Amino acid sequence: MKNSGKCPKCGGSRISTVPGKTGAYGSGPNIYVGMWAWSTAQVNRYVCLECGFVEHWVASPEDLGHIAERFESVAAEPPAPAPMAPPDDAPWAEANIDPNDPDADLKGP
Ligand SMILES: [Zn+2]
Repeated sequence: MKNSGKCPKCGGSRISTVPGKTGAYGSGPNIYVGMWAWSTAQVNRYVCLECGFVEHWVASPEDLGHIAERFESVAAEPPAPAPMAPPDDAPWAEANIDPNDPDADLKGP
């Protein structure tokens, strides 16, 4: 939405941006990245005026590094196992049987 100017939910193009701020006791969308009240990463919101969908974006790329230092990363999902392929020397590999052919002899020799 921030980059495309289009809402990913409804395709609307009426988007408003709301600058992030830090309120009392840390309220607001900004993220603390240091020890002090002013050590925050600014988080701006982009609001679709057609459907109400809201996106949050950290304003400064520099702050992404601060967030990475301070907060735990989400573990990436393990890669999906590779699909199994029959070994080249499997007896059926050379039989060239079409599994969709109802007359094919799938039982083999
Ligand atoms: Zn929308």
